[in-house]
Amino acid sequence: VQAVFRSNLSHLLELMGSGKESLIFMKKRTKRLTAQWALAAQRLARKLGSVWRDQKQILVHIGFLTEESGDVFSPRVLKGGPLGEMVQWADILATLYVLGHGLRITVSLKELQSNLGVPPGRGNCPLAMPLPFDLIYTDYHGLQQMKQHMGLSFKQYRCRIRVIDTFGTEPAYNHEEYATLHGYRTNWGYWNLHPRQFMTMFPHTPDNSFMGFVSEELNETEKQLIKGGKASNMAVVYGKEASIWKGKEKFLGILNKYMEIHGTVYYESQRPPEVPAFVKNHGLLPQPEFQQLLRKAKLFIGFGFPYEGPAPLEAIANGCVFLQSRFSPPHSSLNHEFFRGKPTSREVFSQHPYAENFIGKPHVWTVDYNNSEEFEAAIKAIMRTQDFCAAPGPAPLGARAPPSPFVLAPNATHLEWAQNASLAPGAWPPAHSLRAWLATAGRACTDACLDHGLICEPSFFPFLNSQDAFQKLQVPCDSTESEMNHLYPAFAQPGRECFLQKEPLLFSCAGASAKYHRLCPCRDFRKGQVALCRDCL
Ligand code: UDP
Repeated sequence: VQAVFRSNLSHLLELMGSGKESLIFMKKRTKRLTAQWALAAQRLARKLGSVWRDQKQILVHIGFLTEESGDVFSPRVLKGGPLGEMVQWADILATLYVLGHGLRITVSLKELQSNLGVPPGRGNCPLAMPLPFDLIYTDYHGLQQMKQHMGLSFKQYRCRIRVIDTFGTEPAYNHEEYATLHGYRTNWGYWNLHPRQFMTMFPHTPDNSFMGFVSEELNETEKQLIKGGKASNMAVVYGKEASIWKGKEKFLGILNKYMEIHGTVYYESQRPPEVPAFVKNHGLLPQPEFQQLLRKAKLFIGFGFPYEGPAPLEAIANGCVFLQSRFSPPHSSLNHEFFRGKPTSREVFSQHPYAENFIGKPHVWTVDYNNSEEFEAAIKAIMRTQDFCAAPGPAPLGARAPPSPFVLAPNATHLEWAQNASLAPGAWPPAHSLRAWLATAGRACTDACLDHGLICEPSFFPFLNSQDAFQKLQVPCDSTESEMNHLYPAFAQPGRECFLQKEPLLFSCAGASAKYHRLCPCRDFRKGQVALCRDCL
């Protein structure tokens, strides 16, 4: 069946069900963005013309919202709890729906079982049954539930699963045997999926797929309106939960010398003690009202938590400067509770590394908050800056439209193409875009490629995993071994040893060791659309 673009989202809103606050939040978002989705669908339909697209049958099982996994998020929707995940799920659902696919949505184990066709009372059905879906989008909670209730089908159909995984899963943590043997076994990893089946909120490592979410853009009229309506001395604090404000009196005191401080902190009956009296607290706002507040403000200021949420991008889109703290030393699973047990070795150098690295000044300022002078100087400098809504300055990767493969539907198809192709190596991206580099010792391929203005492309690893490749790069190998190691292929200077990768699932852009010069498959990319190389379409 041919997939036909849809512009009317009312059936999707029905499919999304009701009851839970989390679903209500998601539905409100989808409803509010209906006109933009419809426009995107029309634009994409025009662009693709008569290109045939298969209609896929897709199950979306949102595991973290099921009672069976505790559903800790829904009761906190109206109390300042995390909303970023719901923003992303709402946008994934809308994308799949607008693209014309057949959708089923489940938020309970019972619904999951009935959709998978598991007979009642036979949760551990040992037989592999035909799966009525081409694709399943879920999360780690959902994955666990499917493993328990699909019997043999789980193994048989694992390649149809896509895991929405905010912070990502690096190959070393994904490979069960390797993770167990080498200390990478965590609460979440070791599923032996293809690393590209994990889809992240931001582009952490290209080993995973960058799913992203929708960041709204303003039209020209809105931009002009905002420009006129900005209060140059108004700041909004990033943090809906009072605990985020704890111990920040000093910074708030400094900021208060220059700006009127607004907050959207949830409170029960009185002002939370963490929020000083000079702050104008609006309480937790509905998303559109929060965005209206950002339209008036000059500054959106983060105090280190939450990590990597959507709010800073919304603030920037609404013409705010985002000021955030630099982390030194960087936060990681080794030194920070929040990242502990997460299947990633990533070091986080600021509250929002994506905003820092892909957007940067003049929209994003990352400073050392431990240095009061630097902090105060940044505030003063930001107050002197003009409004960027109409004319943003240059930024590394095009700050206006943050480089997400998910900025409204047209790009979401690119994402699909990339996704399908990358699971069938060799087809896409074309091999001619490969740029191989031998990294300096201790450098991960993610960073080594970026050092050259390129991105690491894990699907190219097989091309580099040979003696021939080492030879072409004139690496002086005295010996060559083939072993399981997520840093291979690599070269070790002492002993002039070359190492090849024995296990394709362990090819990894992430990861580094002072012992190795890694052999890195890089490629170029389009500004604002890192999923695509420059001449690949
Ligand atoms: N948000 C909201 N009301 C508020 C503050 C924030 O609806 O008073 C929304 C905001 O628009 C954003 C979402 O909360 O899309 C998630 O924001 P954040 O970056 O804080 O990530 P989280 O930690 O909630 O996942």
